[in-house]
Amino acid sequence: MKTVQSLKQCREIVATWRKEGASIGFVPTMGALHDAHLSLVRQSLRDGHKTIVSVFVNPKQFGPNEDYTTYPRVLDADAELLRGAGVHLLFAPTVEEMYPAGFATHVHVGGLTQFLCGATRSGHFEGVATVVTKLLNQVQADAAYFGEKDWQQLQVIKRLTADLDIATRIIGVPIMREDDGLALSSRNRYLNANDRAKAPLLNITLRSLAEDILAGGDIAALLKTAAHGLNENGFAVDYLEFADARLLSPLRNLDKSGRLFVAARIGGARLIDNWPVN
Ligand code: AMP
Repeated sequence: MKTVQSLKQCREIVATWRKEGASIGFVPTMGALHDAHLSLVRQSLRDGHKTIVSVFVNPKQFGPNEDYTTYPRVLDADAELLRGAGVHLLFAPTVEEMYPAGFATHVHVGGLTQFLCGATRSGHFEGVATVVTKLLNQVQADAAYFGEKDWQQLQVIKRLTADLDIATRIIGVPIMREDDGLALSSRNRYLNANDRAKAPLLNITLRSLAEDILAGGDIAALLKTAAHGLNENGFAVDYLEFADARLLSPLRNLDKSGRLFVAARIGGARLIDNWPVN
């Protein structure tokens, strides 16, 4: 595995592979890698691609009171994991490489970004859309892999690649969970033992809500009671919502496109999860 920091080196390697007729798979990450990141990598390798992973903690997608400065940065450990997984290229650009002086362009995806994380994390999806557009243009992969844990992000990226005629295929990869249901996340390392023990309640809540909604319960009332239950158990709920899986707009009737979404803070961590209702 090669590791490069500059866009120029990254492009040179991609150009060589293209001449050899290779197909290219791309997995963008913010590092602090865990097994779920590697599940995206494994999917790309299974699909027969030369596989590029980027590690870049994108300042533009963090709000002023969020964890940009404290976000874990462990590039050597990440490189070790990626090498072991069989990744071909690690692209780890600096902030100056991505956003040189004078940088002035931002990508705004309308519609679906007004809901859920878009409503609670101002500017977040504009930061995501901007960096992902840049990365996809830089790498020019055949396919790029994104986790369904960040379901809304996946829909935003599908929307922007369709709208901006970006040819890279966007592939969603199922959520990887711990045995107790907690979705793997780089932010789980912020949890102390007490909060870690409570964290699976997020997923348990979504599963039981899904059953109650399918059984014909009143959706608004069920959401309210479940959010109250989470708050009682030490979570600060940002949102708990039943929404259209593609448009992310709230639903109050059982609909086959419906999906449950939650974001809640516990201890020092903000955790998200989502679950189908069908
Ligand atoms: P991040 O480093 O948190 O930006 O995540 C990089 C990619 O890994 C994103 O596409 C995430 O959706 C994906 N990812 C992170 N955690 C999980 C998980 N538990 N299951 C599936 N994909 C995940």
